[in-house]
Amino acid sequence: MEKKNAWLGYSDENLKELEELNEAYKAFISDSKTERRSVINAVKAAEKAGYVDLNTVIEEGRTLKAGDKVYANGMGKTLALFNIGEEPLEKGLNILGAHIDSPRIDVKQIPLYEEADFAFLDLHYYGGIKKYQWVTLPLAMYGVVVKKDGTVVDVAIGDDENDPVLGITDLLIHLAQDQMQKNAAKVIEGEDLNLMIGSRPLKADEDADEKDKPKEAVKANILKFLKEKYDIEEDDFISAELEVVPAGKARDFGLDRSMVMGYGQDDRVCAFTSLAAQLSVEHPKKTAVCLLTDKEEIGSVGATGAQSAFFENAVAEILNTMGIDSNLAVRRTLQHSRMLSSDVTAAFDPNYPAVMEKKNAAFFGQGICFMKFTGRGGKSGSNDANAEYVAVIRKIMDDNGVRFQTSELGRVDVGGGGTIAYISANYGMEVIDAGVPVLSMHAPWEICSKSDIYEAKKAYEAFLKDA
Ligand code: MN
Ligand code: MN
Repeated sequence: MEKKNAWLGYSDENLKELEELNEAYKAFISDSKTERRSVINAVKAAEKAGYVDLNTVIEEGRTLKAGDKVYANGMGKTLALFNIGEEPLEKGLNILGAHIDSPRIDVKQIPLYEEADFAFLDLHYYGGIKKYQWVTLPLAMYGVVVKKDGTVVDVAIGDDENDPVLGITDLLIHLAQDQMQKNAAKVIEGEDLNLMIGSRPLKADEDADEKDKPKEAVKANILKFLKEKYDIEEDDFISAELEVVPAGKARDFGLDRSMVMGYGQDDRVCAFTSLAAQLSVEHPKKTAVCLLTDKEEIGSVGATGAQSAFFENAVAEILNTMGIDSNLAVRRTLQHSRMLSSDVTAAFDPNYPAVMEKKNAAFFGQGICFMKFTGRGGKSGSNDANAEYVAVIRKIMDDNGVRFQTSELGRVDVGGGGTIAYISANYGMEVIDAGVPVLSMHAPWEICSKSDIYEAKKAYEAFLKDA
């Protein structure tokens, strides 16, 4: 099954489309480094394309019909977009499901402290990371601080070129004799992820009483800054969600500019291409859906994770706007649906060939990758797509000239992973994993092939149109 590299088949027109898509992609992921910002930017794009908030539809008692476009926003962290098709919903939806959370390091609820004339925020990592990769990098911080009166203070620091950056230090090599003997999991320990945010003490009033001078003057100075810039107090961290991510934009990668390096491509590369496909499809036969979920990296839990009833509720509401208030109709709609669980997969890395079985590995430049199953240790925990459904998908891809490949996540028994596929499959719908191959997955800077990104978007469009 020798396959030609996708780049060799592109016309000038294809290459122009490919570059335009990738420019938009880089801009999106550079400005959408958290689940909240991804939702904000996706809603902006959706509204521009004619989508209306489902809550507005419900409040105004509108009746939805074929051609209408609505979105349901779940707490600003998960989003479902529906382009109502010609066929009744109960015939099933065509769903693209991707996740918009990425591995990162969160700020603790009581984070601020001073030590040796430095101010720090204490951190707790989120998702699977190699902790040693996150030191000595310029870091940015995004999120919200919600005050007791309900005021939401938006924080975005480190990506504007006039902003400072933050960071976590590492031990100098000269004194690292003991550290260098530790195994990689222990080189940087979780509790040692402390974000350095300042070193300048607040200058006390010369005449002030000794007891009135701040004991921790660097921390005091940071608190003064927080008060002036954001009008927040130390206690407000208790009701904050602040996420520490790599600072800097996504960039072209390689002398030939054939790849993209950027933060959070797992899984915003599939989220972006799924969203782009959803917004470009017009008058689908079956209702086209793009579902962007949160919390995938920690098990799809919580109110905004794929395991929540958020999506099911949105489907029930949409049916209701069509005059169908029936539990059975919701079940039928979900059971008859087809889904691409759009998530990245591991690309073959020639630096680490031992973890792959080459026949069943994903390669850059071979297009979108379908994975019949994921899991670990004998497919455990995996959704295993039905052969009948895989055949349907193959045909759609071939009919639409989409380059695709298939893979497993590494050699048997060297590790594994999972996606949201098995969760949707619980409704009895057909689901298969489909995504873009990534190098250095979960590292601060991940790498994808521009051609695979291009093929993914084409694949998602073909699916929404023909599945
Ligand atoms: Mn993922
Ligand atoms: Mn992941």
